[in-house]
Amino acid sequence: MAFLPIYPYDARVLREETREIAGPTPETTQLIIDMFETMDKANGVGLAANQVGVGSSLFVIDLRAVEGYEESKPLVFINPVITDLWGEEIGYEEGCLSVPNVREEVFRPETLHIRYRDARFEPQELEVDDFLARVIQHEYDHLKGIFFTDYLKGLRKRLVMPVLKKIRAGEEEADYKMARNIELAD
Ligand code: ZN
Repeated sequence: MAFLPIYPYDARVLREETREIAGPTPETTQLIIDMFETMDKANGVGLAANQVGVGSSLFVIDLRAVEGYEESKPLVFINPVITDLWGEEIGYEEGCLSVPNVREEVFRPETLHIRYRDARFEPQELEVDDFLARVIQHEYDHLKGIFFTDYLKGLRKRLVMPVLKKIRAGEEEADYKMARNIELAD
């Protein structure tokens, strides 16, 4: 197992839409194992493949360290499609392994329906709400090239911009290994 360095804010691979995975391969299985290992070591609850430099439509979630979710199962989402979003828009302070040392409130609908393939490439669907729905929306955004900080506006956006620039330049420290000298988005 391996720790995969985390790609930072504005890495090109994190600004481009990811590609669908055609079918199960040993490489994808290994990537999933390494992504769980990486997420665990970096104390994350969700991780998208492009956060470790792989432009594939895949993310993993493990909420077992979160209060109230101790009994939850780690989840693998391959080629996910959110088919519906509804409910109250709820504000919550989000963070991201690709955006170290930044936490900002983001409003998202509380409930969603998602279709995807699991680690064995079996088709699955889920209706979820609350914290799991939030993490899914955050990771799903990564697959579309969107960061949670993109939702900030006005003064909040202006205040966070200097930190985002430092992260983009590879000058912001994290508690885990970040990928360096990688290709950035324009
Ligand atoms: Zn993130």
